[in-house]
Amino acid sequence: MTARESTQPITPTVEPYDDGEIGDRSDVDHADVVVVGAGLAGLTAAVTAARGGAQVVLVDARADRGGRARSEAVEGFSINHGAHALYLAGPGTAVLKGLGIAPAGRLPRQSGFGWWIEGRRVPLRSLSAVGGVDGARALRRLVLPRRRREGAAGRSMSDWLDDNVPDGGRRLAEMLVRTTCYVADLSDLDAGEALDQIARGARGVRYLHGGWQSLVVGLEQVARDSGVSFVTDKAEGVRCGEGDEGGVLVELRGGRTLAAASVVLAVGGPAHAESLLSGASPQVSAWAAAADPILAACLDVAVTGSPRRSPSTTYGLGQPVYAVDHARTARVAPDGGAMWHALFYEPDRWPEVDHRAVLESMLDECHPGWRGRTAAVVFRKRSVVAHDRVRPVADSDRPTVEVPDLDGVYVAGDWLTGHGMLADAPVTSGADAGRAATAWSVRRAARHRSGTTSLPSGSSAPASPDGSGGGKLSA
Ligand SMILES: Cc1cc2nc3c(=O)[nH]c(=O)nc-3n(C[C@H](O)[C@H](O)[C@H](O)COP(=O)(O)OP(=O)(O)OC[C@H]3O[C@@H](n4cnc5c(N)ncnc54)[C@H](O)[C@@H]3O)c2cc1C
Repeated sequence: MTARESTQPITPTVEPYDDGEIGDRSDVDHADVVVVGAGLAGLTAAVTAARGGAQVVLVDARADRGGRARSEAVEGFSINHGAHALYLAGPGTAVLKGLGIAPAGRLPRQSGFGWWIEGRRVPLRSLSAVGGVDGARALRRLVLPRRRREGAAGRSMSDWLDDNVPDGGRRLAEMLVRTTCYVADLSDLDAGEALDQIARGARGVRYLHGGWQSLVVGLEQVARDSGVSFVTDKAEGVRCGEGDEGGVLVELRGGRTLAAASVVLAVGGPAHAESLLSGASPQVSAWAAAADPILAACLDVAVTGSPRRSPSTTYGLGQPVYAVDHARTARVAPDGGAMWHALFYEPDRWPEVDHRAVLESMLDECHPGWRGRTAAVVFRKRSVVAHDRVRPVADSDRPTVEVPDLDGVYVAGDWLTGHGMLADAPVTSGADAGRAATAWSVRRAARHRSGTTSLPSGSSAPASPDGSGGGKLSA
């Protein structure tokens, strides 16, 4: 065994999180908005609501917040939960910037690339491996913006590739989609959204100094500065129409109950939200039943004393794998260290394969001798990259942050598929949910003041792009 080793699977079940320790408890029992879950979605929702003038309580089962965006600190390494890259042109990055958060990092190093073909690493310059002229055509078609999206939205990516990419360039095209969208089965991926995500990737990604923890710490600080109260406890149930004036009650494991005008459920996937609501929303139950999570097998390895010229990135061609050393680009390791993230995309689609063995064999080629020099090895067999995929359906059929059949209940997370891909979805849906929850609270407070029973129209909280501005909430 190496210094730290975990083979704990993370599966898309209802309760994948550790039980919370009760500590760091705020005294607030009443709030305008309670946000449950302090991953990227919940943190963004809480900041947006607080800046909109709401009194906000943010509850997470864990004292170390950030959810899957957390990085673990081990012997000078910052270990992300799988390879994480910030898409600079992503809508979520724009939201974060509006909140004053632009974590430092670097564009990936432009050397040391290679392909993984039939169990061997091949240098990038081998153009025949990627289909020669056909590969170049595929690349142009996928990356160049001109008329790229025309007719693509609502179609599956595999259909779109059939019509637009020559056979010889297919492997390269599939690799590009996998690397940017984390999806290996292209028959159930919306081509318009996938092409947008590839275009964002082409405009640049950043590996973050200190790992994604720097993003989490930045958001947490902004939340505190905005007046958000933090509670470390596990929410066990949410009841609607029962608080003061028919608001929302959030029951915590520690025995405490939080009363609020509205709640944002940012607890991971729709099944987690459904479980908290005990099935009270048929719509959330329907979203949970329809969700098809994107999984990845992840091998994260911190290696001490890296050889100087080890490769930086290896892309699978014809095999759904990827390996990258983030320490070649970002400050995530002590001097001379390597921080490897190797991924097998959608492992359940290849159940006969020993995914860990494949990823270890990639590292054997990329970084000979790594096995004897590890500071940490973390293997997650089924890590949830997103709790749903962006399927080729009409926008009107996608989940919305408003839960239409429950007043004052909002949702945010990676499964809100109309909000971009990867971390863009939790961040943008978090901002939308935070704004909507605040607007609901303002309207409810106005109703309370006027003593009317119906909600006045048009009295929503001001919504500025940076989430600032505020409605008066106290009755
Ligand atoms: C392997 C991998 C690679 C990725 N790569 C990228 C990438 O390159 N680029 C990118 O943009 N994104 C990437 N992502 C996606 C990104 O990490 C996620 O989109 C994002 O972290 C999800 O945030 P979230 O807030 O929606 O959910 P989570 O991070 O899951 O947060 C949910 C929070 O809710 C809390 N919670 C759950 N239930 C309760 C309860 N009952 N009571 C209280 N608290 C509760 C949890 O403790 C947790 O803190 C990757 C993800 C993975 C797994």
